[in-house]
Amino acid sequence: MSNADLIARDLKVVWHPCTQMKDTEAMPPVPIRRGEGVWLEDFDGNRYIDAVSSWWVNIFGHANPAINDRIKTQLDTLEHVMLAGFSHEPAVELAERLVDLTPAGLTRAFYADNGSAAVEVALKMSFHYWRNTGHGEKTRFINMGNSYHGETLGALAVGDVDLYKKTYEPLLLKPLTARSPDCYQREPGVSWEEHSRAVFADMEALLAEHAHETCAVIVEPLLQCAGHMRMYHPVYLELLREACDRYGVHLIADEIAVGFGRTGTLFACEQAGERGISPDFMCLSKGLTAGYLPLSITMTTDDIYAAFYDDYANLNAFLHSHSYTGNPLACAAALATLDEFERRDQIAVNRQLAQHMADAVAPLAEHPNVGEVRQTGMVLAIEMVADKASGTPFDWRERRGIRVYQHALSQGALLRPLGDVIYFMPPYVITPEQIEHLGKVAAQGIERAVST
Ligand code: PMP
Repeated sequence: MSNADLIARDLKVVWHPCTQMKDTEAMPPVPIRRGEGVWLEDFDGNRYIDAVSSWWVNIFGHANPAINDRIKTQLDTLEHVMLAGFSHEPAVELAERLVDLTPAGLTRAFYADNGSAAVEVALKMSFHYWRNTGHGEKTRFINMGNSYHGETLGALAVGDVDLYKKTYEPLLLKPLTARSPDCYQREPGVSWEEHSRAVFADMEALLAEHAHETCAVIVEPLLQCAGHMRMYHPVYLELLREACDRYGVHLIADEIAVGFGRTGTLFACEQAGERGISPDFMCLSKGLTAGYLPLSITMTTDDIYAAFYDDYANLNAFLHSHSYTGNPLACAAALATLDEFERRDQIAVNRQLAQHMADAVAPLAEHPNVGEVRQTGMVLAIEMVADKASGTPFDWRERRGIRVYQHALSQGALLRPLGDVIYFMPPYVITPEQIEHLGKVAAQGIERAVST
């Protein structure tokens, strides 16, 4: 089979996610035959460095032998059993280990099977907690401008990226939106910390006015990924934790994209304050299984758990469920992932890789069409602009980011920009040489994209 064969079959029957299917006339999907480490290989033998970790999920490379083995062993033991009324060792062991690894106070793991579902769980649990404790008047959520939390209706509602949300607005619950602490918006000469601290005033004002009707604040800690990889200072999280406590509102940390080492620590919440902060809910998915299998977890506290623990007849239980909740194969992949983190001392290794990423793109910061090169840990983003001095973006209809994508493919790299933001969020098995290659490809791609 060749690329052309599979593309022809694909385009007859598959409707791709996040895709205007008419675009496939000029840009057909890249048919992947196999993966190994950072590499994806198509049916014609072309290879691509997976610089975006296949939508931010892959952590230890494709077809990682240790993770493969663990899943194979699990496959011969138990492929699936429902988690209501039943249990299995991988779900128990994974919950035990995550209780140890996540911030203090997160003592309960509620399983689901994708990121959006973990967000739905957190939203429903927060609302339901307040209801069970005599506060049925709390029905609203506060989110951040430019945030993203998934595509199901509840998760979409608490996001703020128009491209995904606007069409469905009539169907969605209405959050209260605080200004994003996005540091790309800061004035010249203002530090990340000063900017994030100043923008917090907007959140404080919303809480002061609406805490009585608000269940929770939901945020992506440190890094708004789908919102063009915009970043902010950890001081914002510290202020937010303190304010949520003061106003009696839950804090939901959506670490679906940033968890498992992406920001330089195992979880982004660890970077806030001297000892990190503990949210009331922490949503995990993506890197949880190193990109192998769909799984998500909403971690929460004893306090939340206790509000649901009651005689059945009082009908206070949390009845949310999905068929594949806590699937044993996925839990096995997650356990192997945690083992890999330990075995490789990956968080320490990533400090060096992050420095290589910074070095590989350093010259781009001076480019007349680069508004900013920014980085948080293992995520590096390059903002392409029409005019550097004013920060004026290109007209989005010109779709210049796609030119970078196409150039990168021709040079053996998968760089899938978000609009005009090119970013690296690679698997941690990437080498310094491969990072250097990505830097060169990105620079060439940007040069092509901005000319004419
Ligand atoms: N939250 C964040 C921060 C995300 O980046 C994503 C996925 N990009 C989600 C939630 C939704 O996860 P999923 O795509 O698995 O539903």
